[in-house]
Amino acid sequence: MCQWDMINHLAGCLFMSIAERVLQVQQQIRDRAQGRSVTLVAVSKGQKPSALNAAYDAGVRAFGESYVQEALLKLAALGHLPIEWHFIGPLQGNKTGAIARHFSWVHGLERERIARRLSESRLEAGLAPLQVCVQVNLSQEPSKSGVALQALEALVHEVALLPGLRLRGLMTLPEPTSSTALQRQRFAALRQEQERLIRLGYDLDTLSMGMSGDYIAALAEGSTIVRIGTAIFGERNNT
Ligand SMILES: *Cc1c(COP(=O)(O)O)cnc(C)c1O
Repeated sequence: MCQWDMINHLAGCLFMSIAERVLQVQQQIRDRAQGRSVTLVAVSKGQKPSALNAAYDAGVRAFGESYVQEALLKLAALGHLPIEWHFIGPLQGNKTGAIARHFSWVHGLERERIARRLSESRLEAGLAPLQVCVQVNLSQEPSKSGVALQALEALVHEVALLPGLRLRGLMTLPEPTSSTALQRQRFAALRQEQERLIRLGYDLDTLSMGMSGDYIAALAEGSTIVRIGTAIFGERNNT
């Protein structure tokens, strides 16, 4: 690329519309999913309802939100549309009722107590089981969220028994790194855990892995849900 082409290319990326970015991400998914069906969850935390509408018009049908209050405003604004809402944020005990009533999926399950509360609220609401992924901490750092590998099987065992939940698979949120090799290594580790649990008899069909900076590596390692924010909506300002 000559310099002028490069400048044009960068300007193009900066000024691309949400619709164009959605199409670009969907194309990457198609090219790299090796025939698997992969769900694009557009992570809309920090975005206005108008941005979600633009993504919806471009074909997005699943949105990910991290904060309950903020999410409820958007659910109200877009409630008339056939959208699947995914809760991807930290799970607090006092928010489990609202999450169980308003979302179809929860990705960050890491504690049995929270799982029980979600299950009870879901049954009380008379809704079909809430689809959940257990979040795994692959880095083994105590500060990171997610269940440690040594505790994963015990938690999966408990969650699988809860009647208000349907355990679909595993999720991870690795530390950002620009090393593709390291990205792939972590995602491969999550896939191996899924395979191990399947051998033990658990029915897990979902790997929720890959964000804007690493979803290409995640797709190469078998991801079935990618959670993409900035690559669709641009930088967030308030979160
Ligand atoms: C914010 C967030 C994302 C999206 O991150 P981007 O880098 O903006 O794509 C994905 N997953 C979780 C759990 C998040 O909190």
